[in-house]
Amino acid sequence: MALTVLMNAGPWLPVPPPGYGGIENVVATLVPELRRLGVRVVLASTGDATLPVDELLSVFPDGQFGALQRPYNQVCGISQAHLNGVVRALRERDDIDLVHDHVEAVGLAVLTAMGPNSGPALHTLHWDLGKHPDLYGYLDGGDRVRVNGVSAAQLARAPRALRDHSVGHVHLATPLAVHAARRPPVRKSGHQVILGRITPGKGQHIGARLAHRAGFDLVLAGPVGPYRRPEELAAAGPEAGQNPDVRYWREQVAPLVDGDRVRWVGTVAGAARDDLVAAARASLFPLCWEEPGGTAVIESLALGTPVLAIGRGCLPELVEHGRTGLLADDEEGLADLVWQVGDLDERECRREAGSRFTPTTMAERYVELYERVRESAAGPAAAPAAGPPATPAPR
Ligand code: UDP
Repeated sequence: MALTVLMNAGPWLPVPPPGYGGIENVVATLVPELRRLGVRVVLASTGDATLPVDELLSVFPDGQFGALQRPYNQVCGISQAHLNGVVRALRERDDIDLVHDHVEAVGLAVLTAMGPNSGPALHTLHWDLGKHPDLYGYLDGGDRVRVNGVSAAQLARAPRALRDHSVGHVHLATPLAVHAARRPPVRKSGHQVILGRITPGKGQHIGARLAHRAGFDLVLAGPVGPYRRPEELAAAGPEAGQNPDVRYWREQVAPLVDGDRVRWVGTVAGAARDDLVAAARASLFPLCWEEPGGTAVIESLALGTPVLAIGRGCLPELVEHGRTGLLADDEEGLADLVWQVGDLDERECRREAGSRFTPTTMAERYVELYERVRESAAGPAAAPAAGPPATPAPR
């Protein structure tokens, strides 16, 4: 019988997301491949999710991302309400073989708290594991709740208790990697691009400084907090400054954005996003944090655009220095490499993406992990979980 997975993508954005949406994009990439491999997928997302699945569960009619700028006490119930819907479904039905959860912190906490009478769960860690030390440092999911990372570097930063629950890492994937080596090359223009949320960790201020200093054109694409377009941010009231990414934009990035050498185009999506990246001489990642998974990095490779980056986090796992990109230690190092990166062969980038970062590669690896998690949950140490549920299921 086909394996049925409840894929929990959370309440923030529909799947697929309209433009920006790291986790929701991963889910949108993974699910069609899992279904092709014979897995039945029940998706827990928002009511406006359009990804074809076997069943959609939702608590909210649409994505709640916009609420994230409000104070904590007004938004802290959102992911809990979504999880409450997931837990209700898990208690009411008996066809779910495994939960694959992607909801930061609360997903793991709730699945763990459900206790030994509930089924196996795999929680994918998409973020920096230096976060949430008070949760991760004391995690006890037994043999039933397992976690996986999105890079080895990310897991290496995790507290011991979290690593003890790990079944390893699965690199991210992009549909752009499919037949990437066969697609015709795109004519490059002179610009470099930074694609991603405008936030201190992504280092847009360093990129902008470098563009002025070295004299290349730089396009910044991505949202600033909940603001997807420059006009939206310009129209926002003073309360927008409560958002740390808006403060970062106003104080450190906007003064360097002159609309000529450095431009901000807001969130880009679909073909416009792909064209912008494919035509760039390089994708720049002037990172100020340990990048955990780097979707935009592998997308750039798939589009034949070499990567110029500060080699933090997962970057050395994804990019081979001198072949698919150039990695530096800091801003000075980047300045030395700005012009050399254009000499790299775009075909190497596409080949690399086509062999390592396809949706099929990712889905096959997850199917393996689902089996491992189910075996671990059914093992001798989990014997009580194998018995009948304490509370009879309603049907
Ligand atoms: N993205 C997009 N449009 C934008 C900016 C980003 O579609 O204007 C997408 C990008 O292509 C990638 C995701 O958002 O798929 C960002 O994921 P990544 O892992 O690079 O960064 P995160 O925000 O998750 O740290």
